[in-house]
Amino acid sequence: MTYRGIAMTIAGSDSGGGAGIEADLATFLHLKVFGTAALAAVTAQNSLGVHKVFDIPCEMVGAQIKAILTDFSVGAVKTGMLSREETISEVAEGIKTYRVTKLVVDPVMVAQSGDPLMFGGAVNAMIGELLPLAFIVTPNIPEAEKLTGMKITSLDEMKEAAKVIAELGPKGVFVKGGHLEGERVTDLFYYEGKFHVFEHERIHTNDHHGTGCTLSAAIAAELAAGTDTLEAVKRAKDYTRLAIQHRFKGGKGYGCVGHIFKVDWLENSD
Ligand code: PLP
Repeated sequence: MTYRGIAMTIAGSDSGGGAGIEADLATFLHLKVFGTAALAAVTAQNSLGVHKVFDIPCEMVGAQIKAILTDFSVGAVKTGMLSREETISEVAEGIKTYRVTKLVVDPVMVAQSGDPLMFGGAVNAMIGELLPLAFIVTPNIPEAEKLTGMKITSLDEMKEAAKVIAELGPKGVFVKGGHLEGERVTDLFYYEGKFHVFEHERIHTNDHHGTGCTLSAAIAAELAAGTDTLEAVKRAKDYTRLAIQHRFKGGKGYGCVGHIFKVDWLENSD
């Protein structure tokens, strides 16, 4: 067995194991990419909700980023829960200092339970400091609405929002359409001036905690493995769908994505 590359996650821990750093590392490993991690926050959380959030001091976030990026050949970085403005500034500084080009930003704002995961001026810092450095950003509909100030109720509006978000800096914008109603789910990837629309049957379940983390981690993993951008996004989408199909309910509340299944494109890898 060999690793296909090295990726890094800068995100929060979900003590419930379904999302955050825990989902990111599970995804990296499953996709045979070595995972490194800088912890930005710790949540005391279970399948019913978030009890408490503790932000790791910025200096320590910066120190973890420095430790990793001055040593490992990290092919791609993803960010997840960055709840404070200061943390986002620190991360942006690290990304610039170590010239990270393949940065996947998951603009995590709210947990599946509805608990907020972003506070104060964090949304503005995300827009002003981190998105200009992003290679790909992966908002869901409510996050895309927050980033653009638009109301999004259709594919056309998703397209408009993707264009507005792309103007903030990222080369690619993946808008997750799962929050819109309908029997089919439409996701959109706007990249190099083109729209790529992915449509599939909705998997009817509320047990999908960790979906956003898994998607962005899978994109980062595939980019770290050297996969072409559009193919990386398609694989990440397929991986996430499989992870929802193989969901796991470990507590009394929401179940989360699972990571125990085979993926086609690794079938013949050693
Ligand atoms: N990161 C952490 C630490 C979280 O607790 C959560 C949600 O609870 C998320 C990220 C976002 O999760 P999802 O992938 O469900 O959007």
